[in-house]
Amino acid sequence: MKKLLYVAIDGIGDLPIKFLGGKTPLEAAETHNMDALAQNGQTGLMYSVKQGVAPESDVAVISLLGYDPFKYSTGRGVIEAAGVGLIMKDGDLALRCNFATLGANKQIIDRRVGRSLSTQEAKELGEAVNEQVKLESYPATFEFKPTLGHRAVLLIRSTAKPLSSAITNSDPAYIIVNGIGVAKTDVEMVLKTSEPDDQTKASAKVAAGLVNEFIEKSHVLWENHPINLKRAAAGKLKANVVLTRDAGHLLPKFFNINQHYGVNFACLADMHAERGIAKLAGMDSSLLPPTSGNLQLDCEVRVKALLDALPKHDCFYIHLKGPDEPGHDGNCQLKTQIISAIDKYFFGPLLQQVSLKDTVICITSDHATPCGLKVHSDTPVPVLISGDSLGNDSGVKFCEREAAKGKLGLIARGCELMPKLMELIKK
Ligand SMILES: [Zn+2]
Repeated sequence: MKKLLYVAIDGIGDLPIKFLGGKTPLEAAETHNMDALAQNGQTGLMYSVKQGVAPESDVAVISLLGYDPFKYSTGRGVIEAAGVGLIMKDGDLALRCNFATLGANKQIIDRRVGRSLSTQEAKELGEAVNEQVKLESYPATFEFKPTLGHRAVLLIRSTAKPLSSAITNSDPAYIIVNGIGVAKTDVEMVLKTSEPDDQTKASAKVAAGLVNEFIEKSHVLWENHPINLKRAAAGKLKANVVLTRDAGHLLPKFFNINQHYGVNFACLADMHAERGIAKLAGMDSSLLPPTSGNLQLDCEVRVKALLDALPKHDCFYIHLKGPDEPGHDGNCQLKTQIISAIDKYFFGPLLQQVSLKDTVICITSDHATPCGLKVHSDTPVPVLISGDSLGNDSGVKFCEREAAKGKLGLIARGCELMPKLMELIKK
């Protein structure tokens, strides 16, 4: 059996951009190593979940790992909670959270505190809320855990009866469609009240009430917290509110990926959500060190982590966050630079250490984050599967335009890719 290196580059997909001469960032980037892989393999396009779904990363990664998210996803909150090591049982309520900046009349000034909140600041705000806020609208306790920068997880445990996650998001940028979190464009940036989806369902009413109580009380506490007073004095945005989304109250019933395919999978991920999914799927999963902003150094650290783990497993899922953030910020130049850096400093040294005779490399993405839209879209993402005996198509560059002509064609569902890869490594 061959080894598998399955690399997802978060939000790499895009649309042609005028500023880049009508190219996408992937097309504009220098990608000699990925191009060489494309020339020694096959390419195509893929709906990472399915047509019409602009997924959040968690839903897309569930799909990339071969699970139909419509069947298996139980909410990002649950995944994030697993990723940060919170112990959850069915009936606990887990939510993905963002620290944000709230102004007058519930206006959200910035959904991510201008991306300037440090992990240390978030940690201190988290400690304050865990120590000083008590939930009183219903018998319940909570754990609030900041993760990286503005991101956090909230787990509420009722001491009376199980909670239901059939509640709406307080974060206006995402809605829930058929149980799956979907990004919204053209939204009014106002803090929403979390509502039960069904007013008659007592467990959802209680859950929404607890979430709203948490948001209100944490806002009062954080508004004048020393961290925020210091930030305001320095002209920075306050991290004075939490936006909740993607509630879940059930652990996903994933089949064990190793038993299912007879392999020994490891996951290396930049983010807690991906690590959580991999962990729940039965993989040995670890979190990569936080990025430093030095693109070369960050890639080198990632290659080293992968090379160190290489002898211990036969299959790897590697999730690199890189190009997603500049996509959200509409910064196509930075997105292009990051893709070039991943090619040069991650794939460059990696390809010197692995042989395509006994390794299959797959590169794709969880979703497109087009710079022109600044949110995830359902745009099909490019896929590349490379290995010595796979046969190759005529593509010379790894990019959306060439992948559209590739032999893999258009893969309709992202969850079809993993079984295909498992077949290829066993050929
Ligand atoms: Zn994103």
